[in-house]
Amino acid sequence: MAKKHFKAESKRLLDLMINSIYTNKEIFLRELISNASDAIDKLCYLSLTSDTGLSRGDFRIDLIVDKQARTITVRDNGIGMTRAEAEENLGVIAKSGSFQFKGEMDKAQAGAEGEDLSIIGQFGVGFYSAFMVADEVTVLTRHYGEETGTRWNSRGADGYTVDDYEKETVGTDVILHLKDDTEEEIYGSYLEVWKLKALVKKYSDYVRWPICMDIEHQERYETGEKHDDGTPKFEYRTVTENETINSMIPIWQRSRSEVTDDDCIAWYHEKYRDTKDPCALVRVNAEGAVSYKAMLFIPGEQNDASYTSENRSNVTLYTNGVMIMEKCDKLLHEYFSFVRGVVDSPDVSLNISREMLQHDRQLRVIGQNLEKKVKGELEKLMREDRPKYEEFFKNFGVDIKCGVCDEYGRYKDFLKDLLLFHTDDDRQVTLKEYRDAMPESQQAVYYASADTLRHAKDLPQCEAVRGRGFGILYLTSPLDEMVFESLRDLDGKPFRNVATDDLGFETDEEKQAAEARDIENRELLDFVKETLGERVAKVKLSDRLASRPCALTTEGPVSLEMERYFQHSPSEEMRQVRATRVLEINPAHNAFTKLREAYDGDRDHAAALAKILCVLAEMNAGVDVEDTAGFTELVSALF
Ligand code: ADP
Ligand code: MG
Repeated sequence: MAKKHFKAESKRLLDLMINSIYTNKEIFLRELISNASDAIDKLCYLSLTSDTGLSRGDFRIDLIVDKQARTITVRDNGIGMTRAEAEENLGVIAKSGSFQFKGEMDKAQAGAEGEDLSIIGQFGVGFYSAFMVADEVTVLTRHYGEETGTRWNSRGADGYTVDDYEKETVGTDVILHLKDDTEEEIYGSYLEVWKLKALVKKYSDYVRWPICMDIEHQERYETGEKHDDGTPKFEYRTVTENETINSMIPIWQRSRSEVTDDDCIAWYHEKYRDTKDPCALVRVNAEGAVSYKAMLFIPGEQNDASYTSENRSNVTLYTNGVMIMEKCDKLLHEYFSFVRGVVDSPDVSLNISREMLQHDRQLRVIGQNLEKKVKGELEKLMREDRPKYEEFFKNFGVDIKCGVCDEYGRYKDFLKDLLLFHTDDDRQVTLKEYRDAMPESQQAVYYASADTLRHAKDLPQCEAVRGRGFGILYLTSPLDEMVFESLRDLDGKPFRNVATDDLGFETDEEKQAAEARDIENRELLDFVKETLGERVAKVKLSDRLASRPCALTTEGPVSLEMERYFQHSPSEEMRQVRATRVLEINPAHNAFTKLREAYDGDRDHAAALAKILCVLAEMNAGVDVEDTAGFTELVSALF
């Protein structure tokens, strides 16, 4: 019996794996079970057309543990392999011959930690993964219709042997002799029934054939003897029962007529341990270039415990009921990372030897379609149940907003219809609703920004805009302003902060009158600016302040809110970002008259008044007043 060598590329892969490039050793079981399941599929299919004497109910996969011998056997009664097939299939990895993923492996090896490795860990390499946990693998197999079987045996990279073997039944036994335990890895733990059971649950719960295992129970039994008082004596004994450990029914694989939305929601509660109902459910059965089934949920509530950032990307990727990736972040963009659920595609092959890049492309196609569905479902919710949508937006709106700003606004057009903003009358509107309500004459989208909704609504500059009958969007986070920066405009109408200089609706006459007045008061305004120094960049008169004496506004893209936000930035450069402050003074207010009088008579007094006005404006805008002692002194001196 001559030892044969693995083909070069197989040997290489084996070396890589055995040298534990794989962190995720436990997937070996998933790989062997899915091979067993495939083999059963084939024989079951054959049974439809020819008389094999077998029916659906006869097929099963058994896991057999022998602690003494330190072996695990994965047994199936599927199609089996002929001797030639065993050599061909188990002796070569890339049957396609091109071994395309070699490059990926090289990269993974070179790049060591990180992404590439985890990709490989997710997909697996089929049969060979057995060598991650076993130092010897024996395959006993007999093909359907053949008289004799085959024994294939290998101790790893150096090669394998093949002989004839008398096997009584059709099918395949894959017997793993587990490696000795090391400090890093207790291979013996795979001999524990609970561990195998957990692995089957995790990766193979939805394999459609029963996976059976002997499980020990403690059973109470009557000994036949009696206590002194005449009652029967009981004792416990260990009984072994053969149990099916997978649940087999992937509910997302079943049609709407078989499984109702309520069934899906019940599944959601159990699976994610979330007592709240999801606010939307997306079910997809796509057939075409890429086929897949999906069952996605939009959670009803952000539940702190389960929504840390590491905990996101809750879409699990399956192929034919076999779990490939528990949290597949390649399907949906981060802005939809609150979505939970399952995607199952037979087109995403378990076998890594089919080019990885191909997987990525397929995942992207699926992801794109799913994102459209998720968005559609959210829009529907927005139309049909606004309070529920508002609740959703309260929980996950931040993700959408970040998505609008991400990657230089690449996704803004896709996401902008999902945004909601506070407006007058305590309502929340979409940008489209705001746009539709705009009067003909309105040339810009107005917004007011402050730390709270109350403060934003109370900003003095709002009055002029409201007075024109224009709606205002109230923003309470700098992120909102960044969203507007990202969007740039709404159907050509620019976003305008009510606190900026030019609101875009002053008539020419008004502008001229204002200019004339500025010239008239130039000297005084320059004096105020000089007095205040760097605290403000500009001082001007304003008609927009209604009953208030003054206000602090900004010019340019950076608002006071943004400045405050950047103060907490880890980047030194960002922390230096300052808004260009403008002190606006109301010429119709008594304060201005007093300032004017003082300027003409007593410059020191005028300087004091200017400083007081500036502090009032700062306080109103929510800016910290730096020199409170100085301010107290100034005000006290007025008495
Ligand atoms: P893949 O399953 O992606 O084809 P594997 O490395 O897992 O790759 O398996 C290689 C091949 O070996 C399978 O395609 C199949 O032909 C054969 N094989 C593996 N396990 C079994 C089994 N239990 N019964 C029959 N054939 C098997
Ligand atoms: Mg396989």
